This record gives sequence, structure tokens and C-alpha cells, in this order.
Amino acid sequence: MEPVEIILLGSGGGRWVTIKQARYTGGIRLHNGIRLHIDPGPGALVRTYQFGLDPMKIDGVITSHCHPDHYTDAEVLIEAMTHGMTKKRGFLVANKTVLESVEGFGGPAISKYHQNLPKTKILMESGQKAKLENLEIEATPAKHSEPKTIGLKFYTSQGIVSSIFDSEYFNSLSEPYVGSKVLFLAVMRPFADRIPFHLCTEDAAKIIKEAKPELAVLTHFGMKMILQNPAKQAQWVEKETGSKTIAAEDGMVIKIDKEITISKVTPQKKLNFF
Ligand SMILES: [Zn+2]
Repeated sequence: MEPVEIILLGSGGGRWVTIKQARYTGGIRLHNGIRLHIDPGPGALVRTYQFGLDPMKIDGVITSHCHPDHYTDAEVLIEAMTHGMTKKRGFLVANKTVLESVEGFGGPAISKYHQNLPKTKILMESGQKAKLENLEIEATPAKHSEPKTIGLKFYTSQGIVSSIFDSEYFNSLSEPYVGSKVLFLAVMRPFADRIPFHLCTEDAAKIIKEAKPELAVLTHFGMKMILQNPAKQAQWVEKETGSKTIAAEDGMVIKIDKEITISKVTPQKKLNFF
């Protein structure tokens, strides 16, 4: 069975961390035979090279919602995926606001021209499933300021990898994620420092207690979270929930094979072009 490799090209989120690049905002690369670039925020292209990856070797670009820290580099990655627009190849998966527009909430965030470059374009709404080659994905509900925001489940050959990209806590939020091997949670704020439409550490603990993933990964940190040391927040969650919980770091690599192993790539200062 093909192992799963997940490379975090960023662990930051929200306005200030994105503007200052206090943590990177390049999104996630997920490889399981197929290679996907998920939520490519500002810097995604450059971080790809910095962490030793090739942007032309992706088979899909996925964008969960229409906020800049989730979509800005999508067009240039589509250009890379289609080998400089010379080949009609790959998947573009995104929500309604990103592909069309939703009154008052922006969009489209990817030009119609770029939307037509990939071989397959899929508009995902909560509850829908799609197949990207051999990999099935499912969109899950979220409650976020961008109303069409989705979460995602990836039915990989090594189990379910899930991600809450941005949402506030609500009853039943955790339900779709029960049975996940790895669950990513966008945790903007530390402790019980709750703001609308986002998770804080305490919310994350509630979700993890309910969903019981084999590994929980806190990520998408806002400035207040970074100042409180996300690793310490993750330790608290682990103690509170009894589930293994880690804080994402830029360049972290999570490999799922017979077991889950975690390592880290150091970013290269001089970019390696292929
Ligand atoms: Zn957002």
C-alpha cells in the first residue's frame, strides 16, 4: 500500500500572521500516489521550492474557501500543474465562492481562464464526495465567515486524513471526523480565547475528545496563538483528551505507513529550481 506523505508548507493563518509571515502560509502537500496542493495561501509557490518540492509535480489544487490565506497562489500552481499551460491536466477542487461568487463574500478567486486549464474542475459543497484518481474525498460542514467554507476528508490508502480549515465550534462539528487517522484543526487562538468563526485551543480539545483521531495536528495559528507557544497548547490538549496531539511547524512532514512518523525539512535559503 502506498504510504501517505503530508508536507506542511505553512502553519500560520489569519491576517497578521499572513501579512508578517510570522508562520508560513503555503498550505499542505498531500501525496498518496496522487499529489495534491491544498489551500495554497501567500508564498505557496516559493515554499514549495524552499522545502525541496516541485510545483509541476502536482495533480490537483484544492481550495477550501475564499480567504486569501487559503487561495492566493492557486492560479500560479494551476499554471505549474498544467506545465506552463501546455497540458490540460490535473484537478481543481474548490468551493462555490472561489469558483463562482457569493454575494457579499467575494469570488471568483480563481479566474475563469485558470479554472478551465485543469482537466477536471469540481465544485464541492458540504456533504458531497468526489474521486480524484483513486483517492476519494468528501466535503464536510463548517461554520465560518465565508459561508460556503468546507472541511475535507481524504480517504487515503492508509486511512482517513481530515482537515477543518476554518470553522467555529458547533454541535456535531466533530461527527464527520470520527474514525480519522489524522485530523488537522485550524486553531487561531489559544486557551479559551474565543472569536466568532474560528477555533480556540479549548474548542479543539472538545472536537478531539469527540472525534478521537489517532493523531491531532493543531495548525493555522494566529498571532496570539504563536505568542502562547502552540507546542504547549498542544501538550495541554493531549493531556485533556488522551489523544496524541502535536502543533504544526513549517516544514513538518507527517508520514503514514504502518505507523505515523513525524519529521521536519529545513527550508533552503537558496531555492532549488528543477
Ligand atoms: Zn478563513
